[in-house]
Order: sequence, then structure tokens, then C-alpha cells
Amino acid sequence: MAYSGIVARVIPDSISAQLGLEPGDRLITVDGESIIDIIDLSFALADESVELVIEKKNGEQEILEIDKEYDEDLGIEFESAVFDGVRRCANKCIFCFVDQMAPGMRESLYVKDDDYRLSFLYGNFVTLTNSGPQDFNRIRRLHLSPLYVSVHTTNSSLREKMLNNKSAGKIMEQLSALIASGIEMHTQIVLCPGINDGDELERTITDLYSLHPSIISMAIVPVGLSRYRENCYSLEVFTPEKALSVVTAVNKWQQKCRKTSGTSFVYLSDEFYLAANQPIPEYDMYDGFPQLENGIGLVRNFLHEWQQESIVTTGYQTPHHLAVLCGISAQKFLEPLLDVVKIHNLTISVIPVKNEFFGKDITVSGLLTGQDIISTLSQSGEGRTGVIIPGTALRKGEGVFLDNMTLDELEGYVGVPVRAAYSADGLRELLQTWR
Ligand code: SF4
Repeated sequence: MAYSGIVARVIPDSISAQLGLEPGDRLITVDGESIIDIIDLSFALADESVELVIEKKNGEQEILEIDKEYDEDLGIEFESAVFDGVRRCANKCIFCFVDQMAPGMRESLYVKDDDYRLSFLYGNFVTLTNSGPQDFNRIRRLHLSPLYVSVHTTNSSLREKMLNNKSAGKIMEQLSALIASGIEMHTQIVLCPGINDGDELERTITDLYSLHPSIISMAIVPVGLSRYRENCYSLEVFTPEKALSVVTAVNKWQQKCRKTSGTSFVYLSDEFYLAANQPIPEYDMYDGFPQLENGIGLVRNFLHEWQQESIVTTGYQTPHHLAVLCGISAQKFLEPLLDVVKIHNLTISVIPVKNEFFGKDITVSGLLTGQDIISTLSQSGEGRTGVIIPGTALRKGEGVFLDNMTLDELEGYVGVPVRAAYSADGLRELLQTWR
């Protein structure tokens, strides 16, 4: 079957720009071969002369003969990294957040992708339940490493039950086969109280650590429960007591792993420490933050960045009042941090936003919506000069919240400038140079 990659952007002054490629053009073949994804493409283009067949938007095909340096980039970005379509998952996990998504949101939020290529390219987690011998051969042949694998449990029958998939139980064989081919992996566990915690978690850590260092890291995140759970498996959230028992168990493992291999190996997401009222681990315990993109170590990383520089400003000539918004769980570390900031003529209020959109059990800043922010601000007094929101609540590269409200629309509702802080440095900068 023939596939084509649709050009999304042509980098100015690149080879592609000089050849007149435009957004909307389709890449049909390279040297006569159909290409299924950008991994294939990068191999096909590793030559000094290549022939591309391009289909223009009017349906006409052009042949482009290109002479270039062996590793010279063509300067094309594609609409999708996979030209044959994103692989969908074959599971029906009992904890799936896509099944708990509010109705009427943008289509991409309902896509259940489980594609090893996106795992290699972007760090998306895959379960490997839809990967057959051909896929494993390709991973080996192209050495697609490291991969990011959702393990959840190494107990075969429990994994089959959690993923609702009869072929989910061979995870240890799959991991071992990949490791035998030199593939390294980061892993994650979505922890569900009473299902895969306690002894089951001990077993999973033991099994995965036995495959270290090829299994580079193991992240544990708590199950997220939204209010859209009709027809979903009955699950509970972590109480402070249950969160504490996870923290205690993982602390022990981290000490043990550091003694035997020099890394913590297993890392908890911040929600566990915040729910259990336990200190966030020190910076060194995160070993370079191998799963920061997965939200592991965000608070420690933020605190570290915050401590690297001091606030340097003479302050403001007129009184300013900035509201710094966050999810309920972030209030615990953000409030003490900002309480001690003293800037002339500046009042800072940390305002936690309750998540009414997804439900009260969702406390992270990254799932806040524009409508919840408006509702919180309308109940929390007036006289603000501006509002600072967490950048994680916005779609990457765009000023749009999960409920499709734009930053501009939010600004219109609240009547003062709204800015997003994407990091500790960003927050410091906004506080000392508000305009
Ligand atoms: S793998 Fe499981 S959690 Fe992920 S999208 Fe599929 S059903 Fe949902």
C-alpha cells in the first residue's frame, strides 16, 4: 500500500524551499520507494543524491532530483510523523483517561494512540500489545532506542485484566526480547489503589529492576479520575494514608537502588508526596530527571530553578497586585515560595483553582481550564493588576486551554492582562518586570 507524507511547513532557504515545495504538497516516494514515516525517511535521505516524487495540491506529480551533502536536511516538516496513520491502541484499560474525557472537546483528545514510532520519536508511552513480530524486527533493525513502555504491572494475569486485553500478559517476555537486541527503555506504572499497589507494586519494581540498566527508569503516576466516569471500572483515588504507604515503599527502593546501582531507578510523581504531606525528594535523587516530560520531578526541578537566581528589581512605582494561579496540589509548595518574595509595591496572591471541569479529584495545574479560572477569579476579590497562569495548562505552542478557551478570551473576561509562566525563571521574570 502506498502512503504519502503531507508537507506542513517548508523551512525558508532550505533545499525544499529552493525547489518550490509548499505546505499541502505530498511526498509520494523517495528513490522509487514508498515511505511510511519520518524514521524511514531519515534513512532514505541519508545519501548525496535522491529522487523525490512530489504530488502538488492540484494533483500533478513532479520528480525532483536532489544533490546534497550526505547528512544535509531537506527542510520539510510534515503534518504527521507517521504517513500510514497513527497506530491505535488495542486495549480498554480500566484507568484510561481518554474514556473519562469530557464530551465536546477537540478530536485529538479522544485519540488512543499506541504507536512505537511515536514512543521513539516523542517519548509517548506504548503498551506493546499491538506490536507484532514485524514491528519488533523493525525496532531491532533500526535500533529504535530508547522506547517508553507502559508496564503497569509485571503480573501477567493482572496486566491482562488492567488492560482488558488477552495478549497483554507477555510484557516480561517482550521487554526481555527488546533488551536482548540492545534496546533500552523507560517505563511507567499508572498506580490504582487496591489493584496494582502494595505487594503487586513490590513485584513490579523487583522485576523491572532486575532488567536495569536496560530498563533505565520506572515512573509511578497515580490514576486520574475525572467526573466523566459513567460505564467506567470502579476505582478510587489515593488517600493521604495510601499515598504515604507508596512514598514509604518507594523511598526504600530508592535507597536500595542507589546502593546497588547508583541511581534511584524508580521515581514517583509529585502528587504522591503532596497528597502524603511528605517532602519532595532532593534534586540529586532524580538522576538528571529522565522522565520530566512525563511530569516526574516537576516540583523539584521548579524549586531548583527558582533557587538558582534571586529576584533583582527596584520594584514598582505604583501599587501592583498579581494573582498567581495554580492547581490545588501546587498550592502547597508555591505559597511558601512566594510568601517570602518582597518586591516594592507588589502584592502577590497565590490562588488555587478547583477543577470543576474534570472534577475535584483532578488537582494538577496542567488540566486547568479557562472556565474554571474565570469562576475562581470572580470569587476571589478585585483590584488585580494582572494574572499569571501555569503554562502547562495551555496547549503546547498555542495559547489555548483544554476547554478551547484562548488566552485572549480569558483576558477579555477577567479584564486585566493574563500571562503564562512556563518555568520558575518565567515566573520570576513576570513578577519583577510586569507590564
Ligand atoms: S493504552 Fe490504555 S490508557 Fe492508553 S489510550 Fe489505550 S486504553 Fe487508554
